[in-house]
Order: sequence, then C-alpha cells, then structure tokens
Amino acid sequence: MNKDIEKVLITEEAIGRRLDEVAQRIIADFSNQDSLQVVAILKGSVFFMADLLRRIPFKIEIECLNVSSYHGGTTSSGQVDFLDQKLPDVHRRCVLVVDDILDTGQTLGEVKAKLTRLGASEVKTCVLISKKKERVCDLKADYAAFEIDDEFVVGYGLDYRGQYRNLPYVGVLKSSLVS
Ligand code: 5GP
Ligand code: MG
Repeated sequence: MNKDIEKVLITEEAIGRRLDEVAQRIIADFSNQDSLQVVAILKGSVFFMADLLRRIPFKIEIECLNVSSYHGGTTSSGQVDFLDQKLPDVHRRCVLVVDDILDTGQTLGEVKAKLTRLGASEVKTCVLISKKKERVCDLKADYAAFEIDDEFVVGYGLDYRGQYRNLPYVGVLKSSLVS
C-alpha cells in the first residue's frame, strides 16, 4: 500500500467485480441503441472509463469534457468551470456521461444541463462512486458502482493536488498530508 494512504476503502478486486456488474446493466439498458456516445469528465474518470468501456461490446464514441470544481482542495468550490474551447456534438444522441465521483452533484448537474441544451436526446450518468450526502444539486446517478460516506478519497483516477490518480484502489489519505 502507498505510504500516504491511511486506509483502503475499495480494493482493486472489488472495483473489477463491480465494473462487471455495472457493465452488464448498461449493456441491457442500451441494447436497443446501435451505438453509444460516451462523454467522460476529465481527468478523474479516465481509469474508470477505460476499464468500464472495455467491458461493453458496443460501437462506442468517446468525447471528453474538461471540467473543474475542486481546484486542488478537498471540498468543492461550488463553481463548475468548463475548460474546453469546443463542446462535443451530441445533437440527437443518447449520451452516457461518465465521471469519477458524485459529491455535491453540481458538476454532473451542470454537465447534464449543458448536454441537454446542446440537443442530446437523452443524458444518463454513470459514476464510480456516489457519496452518501445531501446534494446541492438534486441528482441521482443512473449507475453508481459504489456508495461511500462523505469523506475525501483518492486513487483510481481521483487526485489530491494532482497526485494519487494512478493508485489501483480507492483510499483515504493520512490526515497529516491534507490541508
Ligand atoms: P461535485 O460537483 O459533485 O461536488 O463534485 C464532483 C467532482 O469533485 C468530482 O468529479 C471530483 O473531481 C471532485 N471530488 C468530489 N469528491 C471528491 C473526493 O472525495 N476526492 C477527490 N479526489 N475528488 C473529489
Ligand atoms: Mg471531476
């Protein structure tokens, strides 16, 4: 285990098992579509997206949205910034938005609203983790692989000040390292 990690919350094996189940649900739910348009939220979703989509044997197109709301800290700034010059063409597409974690709900809420304004016919949301808490933006993910208590986690895509994304598990940092 990485020396900066206090405890592992979700092991690599548990992630693999749950991704199999979530992929099966998505395959069943989207079976009447001939292709799937995925919009991944950078950077946190990259590991989750790559592992999840390799379990789904559809024609898949991937677009990425660079969105920021934590700005390096451990709590949401409350402001969701879209950092892209150009937004994906989702007109009349059924879109699956993939993100790392659902916290206040503002990021996914705003992404969903924006994709709907861009003409998407349907927007479904899929997250690795949903935090058990009251949301600022009332949003429930259509697919959530795990539910955790309201604590700050890193690993498997999730960072603290740009680091720890490459840990193969999700864990909690030692409190002495977090300011
Ligand atoms: P929301 O907009 O739902 O409050 O937050 C979503 C974004 O905040 C996530 O996509 C993620 O980038 C960041 N975030 C929320 N909770 C955590 C956490 O526990 N750990 C890390 N590393 N990022 C988080
Ligand atoms: Mg994020």
